[in-house]
Amino acid sequence: MKIVQVEAFPLCLPMKRDFAISGGKVGDRAKGAPHVYVRITDEEGYTGWGEARPSHRWSEETLETVVTTVRNYLAPALAGQEVEDVEGASRQMQGEIRGGMTLGQPIAKAAVDTALHDLIGKRRGQSLAQIWLRRPCFTIPLSYLISTRSPEEAAKLARQAKEEGYRGVDVKIGSDPRRDVEIVEAVRGEAGDLFFRVDANQGYTLSQARYVVRELVRLGVDVLEQPLAAHDWTGHAALRRQSDLPIALDESVWTAGHVMQAIRLEACDMVVVKLTKMGGLQEAKRCGEIAAAAGLQLLGGGLTESSIGLAASAHLFHELGIDTPVDLNGPFFLAEDPVREPIIVQNGEALLPAGPGHGCTVEMKALKKLAWSGDGT
Ligand SMILES: [Mg+2]
Repeated sequence: MKIVQVEAFPLCLPMKRDFAISGGKVGDRAKGAPHVYVRITDEEGYTGWGEARPSHRWSEETLETVVTTVRNYLAPALAGQEVEDVEGASRQMQGEIRGGMTLGQPIAKAAVDTALHDLIGKRRGQSLAQIWLRRPCFTIPLSYLISTRSPEEAAKLARQAKEEGYRGVDVKIGSDPRRDVEIVEAVRGEAGDLFFRVDANQGYTLSQARYVVRELVRLGVDVLEQPLAAHDWTGHAALRRQSDLPIALDESVWTAGHVMQAIRLEACDMVVVKLTKMGGLQEAKRCGEIAAAAGLQLLGGGLTESSIGLAASAHLFHELGIDTPVDLNGPFFLAEDPVREPIIVQNGEALLPAGPGHGCTVEMKALKKLAWSGDGT
């Protein structure tokens, strides 16, 4: 059975609230969020859907580059390929857009790879878990995202996280070390018993990070994520040697090669697995398995994807045995989601759709209504 069409649909999804990290705003309530849905159709008319959620404040991909990458490069490369040959499709995509430090447009490739897995699931009547020969997964615990420059607001949000039944918090820091410590302290006062993940998104110099690490140890934080620039392997290794605080790498680790480098240099204790930055389910699964085999712990993350990206990521995290609350924050930020039954969050857990593939069904009417103005290119 062959692939006959690969399409990209640029969308603007309304947001309930702004979202900022140390690099700047990654989501804007006034402008909405850039998402690109991808549909793959086979010879018998079966379809599978995937999603990209680029953010130029997080990496170099934009809505426009995802759309042109899919339409002008990946779609022609995959037309006529076998639907069931996921590894072949991955090789075809890596060959069409070569990688360097990353796989080469991994967020665009991830949307296509997810759509292909969904299509295989829809054809076989099997969920992603069944395709991987695992028992299905129906819920996944989420971490509550706290992104603010105000300690008072951080304390309020931490209280809310506890009241709503979350088992973990993820606090965004990386701007001003002293203020960051005050924010973490405020969260600890209200929710110190939850899984406590702190993410600097490459915001510090080594000397700033050394100060913050000392304070975070005092505050009982469970893990500090990406304190230094993505390329600073030796800096992260030096930080690890300084204290017992576990260090996680996220923006440093895009490929299986990066996982190997982190292992060789003993640069981290944990690796953040993300479907999108790693170029899709196939490659992200490989990265997670290599890291786990080397004794590294895995954390799950996302880029505020809507239901499709969330469900696909959740299935992957389940497959990889990730048991800490994960950063899949789409429902926290998005006011609309163009699938028939958007994923809901109850007691800090996302309730995942049952059904073949990732389980989500796209509503074409909603997709049209939420189309990005212009063609996105
Ligand atoms: Mg991160």
